Parts: sequence; C-alpha cells; structure tokens
Amino acid sequence: MNQENLTSRFVNVGERTNVTGSAKFKKLIVEGDFEAALAVAREQVENGAQVIDVNMDEAMLDSEAAMVRFLNLIATEPAISRVPIMIDSSKWSVIEAGLKCVQGKAIVNSISMKEGEEAFIAQARAVRRYGAATVVMAFDEKGQADTEARKFEICERSYRILVDKVGFPPEDIIFDPNIFAIATGIEEHNNYAVDFIEATRRIRKELPHCHVSGGVSNVSFSFRGNEPVRQAMHSVFLYHAIRAGMDMGIVNAGQLAVYEDIPAELRERCEDVILNKRPDATDRLLEIAEQFKGGGKKREVDLKWREAPVAERLTHSLVHGITEWIDEDTEEARKLFDKPLEVIEGPLMDGMNVVGDLFGAGKMFLPQVVKSARVMKRAVAWLMPYLEEEKAKNPVKEKKGKVLLATVKGDVHDIGKNIVGVVLQCNNYDVVDMGVMVPCAKILDAARKEEANIIGLSGLITPSLDEMCYVAAEMQREGMNLPLLIGGATTSKIHTAVKVAPNYQSPVVYVIDASRAVGVVGNLLSAGNRDAYAASIREEYAKMRDAHSLQQEAKTRVAIAAARANRVPIDWEAYEPPQPLKPGITVFDDYDLAELASCIDWKPFFETWELSGRYPDILEDEVVGEVATSLFADAQAMLQRLIGEKWTTARGMVGLWPANAVGDDIEVYADEGRTKLAARFHTLRQQMAREGRARAHNALSDFVAPKESGRPDWLGGFVVTAGHGIEEKAREFKANGDDYNGILAQALGDRLAEAFAERLHERVRREIWGYAPDETLSNEELIAEKYQGIRPAPGYPSCPDHTEKRTLFDLLDAENAVGVELTESYAMWPGSAVSGFYFAHPQSRYFGLGRIGQDQVEDYAKRKGMTVQEVERWLAPNLAYDPNAKKAEAA
Ligand code: SAH
Repeated sequence: MNQENLTSRFVNVGERTNVTGSAKFKKLIVEGDFEAALAVAREQVENGAQVIDVNMDEAMLDSEAAMVRFLNLIATEPAISRVPIMIDSSKWSVIEAGLKCVQGKAIVNSISMKEGEEAFIAQARAVRRYGAATVVMAFDEKGQADTEARKFEICERSYRILVDKVGFPPEDIIFDPNIFAIATGIEEHNNYAVDFIEATRRIRKELPHCHVSGGVSNVSFSFRGNEPVRQAMHSVFLYHAIRAGMDMGIVNAGQLAVYEDIPAELRERCEDVILNKRPDATDRLLEIAEQFKGGGKKREVDLKWREAPVAERLTHSLVHGITEWIDEDTEEARKLFDKPLEVIEGPLMDGMNVVGDLFGAGKMFLPQVVKSARVMKRAVAWLMPYLEEEKAKNPVKEKKGKVLLATVKGDVHDIGKNIVGVVLQCNNYDVVDMGVMVPCAKILDAARKEEANIIGLSGLITPSLDEMCYVAAEMQREGMNLPLLIGGATTSKIHTAVKVAPNYQSPVVYVIDASRAVGVVGNLLSAGNRDAYAASIREEYAKMRDAHSLQQEAKTRVAIAAARANRVPIDWEAYEPPQPLKPGITVFDDYDLAELASCIDWKPFFETWELSGRYPDILEDEVVGEVATSLFADAQAMLQRLIGEKWTTARGMVGLWPANAVGDDIEVYADEGRTKLAARFHTLRQQMAREGRARAHNALSDFVAPKESGRPDWLGGFVVTAGHGIEEKAREFKANGDDYNGILAQALGDRLAEAFAERLHERVRREIWGYAPDETLSNEELIAEKYQGIRPAPGYPSCPDHTEKRTLFDLLDAENAVGVELTESYAMWPGSAVSGFYFAHPQSRYFGLGRIGQDQVEDYAKRKGMTVQEVERWLAPNLAYDPNAKKAEAA
C-alpha cells in the first residue's frame, strides 16, 4: 500500500482544545473567554482536524459546566460542528454531561477496566445509549499496559466483553494502547514506541473492525521546548504506526511535519529512537537536537526580514502579500519623508514595481499579485488622512494611464474583469471599473468624462460578441481613437480579428488572460512603441481574417434534410422511458451549503486564478504548488465562514415533464395524457460533413422519444443558484480595499452553484426522476460525469441558443421560485447560477453543434417565430456563412 492511501485513511483528532494539554486553552477557559476558545477549535478544524478532542479536566474549573457551555457553543458554529466531538475526561459525570449536549455521533474518551469489569460494562452500556463510539484505554485493575503483551492482553479482554457481553458494535471501539514517552534516559522506556506499534499491529489483525488511536505528543515529551524535534518524532512515529494499523490519533493537525521533508539526519536519528534500533539512539538524537531547535520553525526564520530598513520591509510585505505590519511600516515611512505622497511614489511604488517584474517574469502568480494589491491599498488607506490634510486628494499624479473596464450590456461576467482591473492597478494604471451590464452609451460617456486612455470590454456569453461589435462601431461613429481591448470567456482572437476589429479603425486587441493585460496596455500606451505594436496587431488580424475566409469556403456541410436523415439511432421500441417518481416541480429554498461544499469541483477554481493543473495534484506541483496550496487554504477558510455565517442562500429547482420529440423540437405537455402543450423547445442539428465516418448528426431532440414512437417520454429542466448574498459580500470586501477576498467570494459562489447543479442532478437520477436509484459514485466520478443522462445548458455547445432559456425559465417560473432572472441577453442574474435540461436516455451525450448552414437557420427561424436576422444574431458563432457578405453580394 502506498503512503497516500494509508495517510488518507488516518483520522486526525485535534488536541488543542484540551486544558491539560494546552496552557493557552486552559487560560482562556479559566478566564471565561469562550469566544477565543472557540477560535482555537475552529483553527483546529481549518488545519485539518477531522475530530476535535475537548477536555476540561482542571482542578480550578467546574469541569461539567465548562464542558456543557463549550459544547453548546460549538453546536452553533457550523464550521466546527461539522466534525465529530471527542468528549475527553477522566470523570464519568463530565462525559455524561457532554454526551447530553452533542448533536450527531460523539466519541467518548475514554472508558477502561481500571475500576473493574462491572464499572466498565456499566459505562459501555451508557455510551451505547447515547449512540456514541468510545475510546478504550489499555488499562485494567493492575494498571496501564506498557509492554506489547500487556497492551494486547487488555485490549483483547475489553473487546470480548464489549462485543460479547454488551453487544457493542466493534466498529465503534477505538483502542488506545498508550503512547508513552521515550528517550527519557531511562532504559525501560526505550521500547515504548515499538510496544505501541507492535501491539497495534496485533490488535488490528486479531480484533476485527476496531480502531486504534493514541495521544501522539506523549512520545516526545522528553524533548519539551524543542518543537522541531518533537514534530519530527511525531511524524516518524506516525509513519510507522499508521503502517501497523493505527488509524486515528490525537495530534496538532496544523503542525505535523511531512515525513519526506524532515532533514535526513534528523529523520534517521528519530527513527533510531522510535524503533529502538541502537542503545545510543537517545544520545545521538540529543547530540543534534539543539541545532534544529527553532530552525525548523518557519516563522522565526521568516521574521528576519523585519530587521531590514523600512523600504525593504514594505517591498517584502507587498511581494508576500502580508498585511500584518503594513500600517506600522507605512507610518514609519511617512515620518521619514516630507510628504505622505512621497511614500506612495517612493517605497510603495518601488515595491509594486518589484511585484510587477516578478509577475512579468512568471515568478509570481495571480493570487499573489491580487494579495499584493490588497497590501498596497491598505498602505494607501493609512496615508489617506495625511494626504487629505495636504489637500493632495489625487494621491498619485504620475499614473501610467487610465483604463476603463466594463462588462457589456446583458452580460454579468465579473470575476475575470475584476482580476484584470487589480492586475492593472498593481502595475500603476488607474482603473475605472464600471461593473456589469453596462450599455454602450454609458461606456462611451464615461470614457470621455474620465479621459480614459483605453477601453476594455468583457463578456461571458455569446450574445455579448455582437454587443462588442456594436460598441466598436459606435466608437468609430463617434470618432473616438482610444484602443479597445476585448476579453472574457466567450471572446477569442479569431472573433476579435474577424468580427470586432473591422468595425473600428483604432487598435482593437484581444487579451487572452489577465496576466497578458499588463503587456498589452503597456505597449498601447508607450509613446515609443505604440504605433509599431498597433501595426503588428493589425497585420496579424488581417492575416487571420484572410485565412478564416479561405477556411470557410473549404469546409462543406450537409443539407439539413440529409442531417436529419442521419439522426442518432435509438431503438425506441426496446426502450421503456422511466416514469419520474416525483413529476412536476420540486423546489429547494435553502439548500445545505456544507453539503454542496463537499461536491465542489476545484479544478475550475484554480483556473479562475490562472493556475492550471489537476486537483489535488496541483497542490504539490513543482511550480505553482505553493501558491495553489496557499490559495486553497484561503478558499477553505472562507468557505467555512461562508457556510457558518451563511453569506448566501442556495436556491434551486427541478421540473420533470411529459415530453416527446417532434422533428427537431421537443414538445413538453401540461398533462400526462399529453393533450395540452405546455412549451416547445427548439434544438439544433449538426451539419458538418462526416467524411465517410458513420457518426450521426446529433440534435438534443434525438434523445427524447419521438411522438410517433408512442413512447411516453419525459424531459427535465433545472435552475440553481448560490449567488444570493455573494455579490453583496464581494462588494463589501472590495469597498474595504480587499479585492482578493472579493474575488475569492465570487469564485466560491460560482463553485457552489456548479456543485449544486452536480448534486441536484445526482438527486434527480436517484430520487426525483429516480431512474438510477442505486447509483453510488464518488465525487471524482460525478465530476467525470460517469452517470446515465446529461444536463446540457443553453448557451453551451450542444444548444448554443441562449433564448431557449426564456422558455425554460417560464416553464419553471424560475424567477419567482428561486429568484434567478434573465438579462436582455439571457445571462442569469445573480451570476453564480446554472440552468439546463435533463435527458435520461443512456445514449444521450454532449456534443458540439459546430457551424450550421443557412437552410437550417431559415428553418429554425420559422420554427421559433423569429426573423432570420434575429436568429443569426444569437447564433453568430455557429453560422457557416457570413450574413454581411451575403447581403453585400445581394446588393
Ligand atoms: N464540474 C464542472 C461542471 C461544469 S462543466 C464545474 O464545477 O464547473 C459541465 C457542464 O457544462 C455540464 O454538466 C453541462 O451542463 C454543460 N455542458 C458541457 N458540455 C456541454 C455541451 N456540449 N452542451 C451543453 N452543455 C454542456
């Protein structure tokens, strides 16, 4: 078995909420500061504790009362109470008081035969009554077990009593065969770790289904005060104990050293001590222990930078995104200069230039840069009152230029645009962000009023492409000459070259991602470079246009009639459409966010931050691993807060309706008799030439039984959102100069919406439609879509027409039921939302429509009751012909 499998099954029990083990926690409890004590628990969970051990055994305390109060507080903190509680006390009354207030399954720590069998049985029965699991100490009437033989003997005896006499489920038994301190200088202690490890091996082998745990920090007790060595010992100990079958342990989750990261010499000497390999093992560890003392602690080393001159400290804070000292350092710098403005133009700008250079050189990544911006804003905020005193309201005179950003009318794309804005600000550009859904006239007015040097347009959905062309044409009409940038998910270089650029004579440049924005803007605004750069772009785009028109002619398409004759071959005779268990509408007003959090697909989250790689491998990636890990930790912490403080309400709905295909349309009926039409969806069919390959020309309607088959089939639809509340939260962060957390909140909103879509689809298959009641897939399998059926989303490749969303939303009455609205371009608002159709047929699959011919466009327009021009507008990227060229030809 490999390490990963072993450690992933190991359960960390957080140890810091223990008054006997943590002086800090004890102080908080004794002083009655339960808020701060809760923070200790939260931190444990955030650091990866999967259970938290709570111990209030302190002579000066009313332990029972303290236990009850603390556990009740935990119950109101979803961020903590999502993990089980281990109620730890040597007093039975404290344990029982605790058991009474824990929700869900608790773990008792501990019971044992120390007072004989009878008391043991009585306690075990009581634990059972509360449905709890229990830790059983290897302790009997004679005392605590120290050797391997005694440990096993007591555990075996306890096991037989519990399982045979009490009827205790063996899987709820957690043995603690006592971890004792080693390397104490007393020879009899030297084999204690080996005794534990070997006893564990026997227990796991001979006593089926039980677990083995232990208090890990005991083992290194003799190295108190030398944390690095203690952590190395813990890690080496666990490495071997886990292999022997230890599957739970009380540890400080945030502090475990990674086995492979322990310096080789230290690791070897720890190993000698833990495994009792040589008589002088303790001496040899002591010999080198001093040199590691403090050295292994990252923080102490890191703090050296605090001794540098203030300008260097400011740069350090900016580069590393540290806000902790920025106020005091900025203040110190302010006193050194005549004017506060000089602090900004001097050391702060210098620091940001370092950030810009590192980013440009690929040595810093997007999340880090966005954090740097946060530090910069904090520093400027600190100086603000002084700047105002000086009436220097406009802090930086020498900005490099002003960029006006806007998401076009009808579109709600925001995250990418925000990132571009922050990155440009980091590079000393002034940024005016007009937000989302901005009409053309407003953009152009603002550009004039603000005296912007560049306009940047952003869009997520295909109708925005057309809007961007319009903005470009308007800029031309109004005689503007500032460069226009195009970006966002739906845009592309080819579209910019072929469609947008010809509308405007000044430079139009496609920007593929935020990291590219700085270079493009730099080129466009540098007096020396600008003309040459604009000319090179113009030339490149002209070439792309030529290549594109050649390509257009080269590709052949089949006639729509022929494509229809080659529909997806499904044997409807042989197919019994599954009848939904719960037809009609099902609404979820307030879906459990914690449940959704567990279904998140993290890969796209990292992509938002321009970090690519598979999750979780990306966390260990050689290049971006560190950044990804830090970003992920921030995301996890925010997710806990988001859930705990309920920043958003997840609302979603499903509709399942009787349906049949009629040609390329899907008819949805109001009744099961299928007499009354409730709605009609229009699907589009592939028309690419198949060149001899026997592939069908797909249309989504092929996956629903045709009316003439006589099969009573069904179609589903859904809308989910996790956006209610997120936008406000993001705005709040941004207003406080914290774009990093603002963007993080939006990204998490999007993730939760996608997770909701995934989870809801699963429930549809298992319970609501119920055609796959026995499906059990892991999150990875769900993300890989290894299930029967699909949920194509309007606006995506198999159904690119966004206007079909209107029909779907009306049918669901989604605006009222879940509060998701459609903009004039059929984007969903709030932005963190997903909608789509459900198809259940096992042969249904996603495909890309590709380019379609004019014959289908005309037919489609007729079916939809739209003009050909309207359809062409919505399907622009799917057209195999150029409508303008066609018109020109006719004229
Ligand atoms: N796990 C991803 C899920 C989103 S992408 C995430 O968290 O972001 C997959 C979804 O996009 C599909 O479930 C479907 O709704 C949509 N989709 C993908 N390909 C599609 C296609 N060709 N046609 C229509 N919708 C498609």
